[in-house]
Amino acid sequence: MGILLVEDEPNVVSVIKRGLTDYGFEVSVAANGATGLQMALDNDFELIILDVMLPVMDGIQVCKLIRQQKKQIPIIMLTALDSTENIVSGLDSGADDYMVKPFKIAELAARLRTLLRRSSGETLVNNTYTISDLLLDTDSKIAYRNKEALKLTATEYRLLEYFVKNQKKILSRIQILESVWDIDFNMGTNVVDVYVNYLRKKLEKNGGIKLIHTVFGMGYMMKEGNKDEDTK
Ligand code: CA
Repeated sequence: MGILLVEDEPNVVSVIKRGLTDYGFEVSVAANGATGLQMALDNDFELIILDVMLPVMDGIQVCKLIRQQKKQIPIIMLTALDSTENIVSGLDSGADDYMVKPFKIAELAARLRTLLRRSSGETLVNNTYTISDLLLDTDSKIAYRNKEALKLTATEYRLLEYFVKNQKKILSRIQILESVWDIDFNMGTNVVDVYVNYLRKKLEKNGGIKLIHTVFGMGYMMKEGNKDEDTK
């Protein structure tokens, strides 16, 4: 699980790793193409960030070989400034997207989320999700608790859908903010707390176990569990 970063320059690795970790991603690193390929094939990463210029085996070659084995996994290529050729051969080799160095981590994080959203959509077998007695129909965009439809605003619905699709993961306020509100500027994360409280009230209006838990100092998590497990 998590993201695989295949990059040989230690400075770039540390900047990307630190940055993405702040955005809530879990990042594993491979420092050359051959190791990257091996790690990609041996593990179930959600996404691969692949530099083009790599020792042992270049990113284009790695990408082609990954595609031969794992067709679905999203791959984003990192390429040097102004090397149009890299971009074209990167996309030809089966990459889904590319970033030209240098780039802002916020932009990389946004691209990752888009790719992850797309890939989770493709593997969806049906359009309903459940946790405990909560059922979410993403076609009609209606949530039911104990078979009763909840009256949610559009924002509350998007927030609930994000939680339900990311069950059992700790979601930081900034992650929630950027995924649900889809904004790049700093709006402040208070709005997340406010909406989580609205949503909790509606979810728990007619009883049922608590589903959205506060993870102190980190954010929130949706899971089935009783109040005692809440770390707040
Ligand atoms: Ca490199």
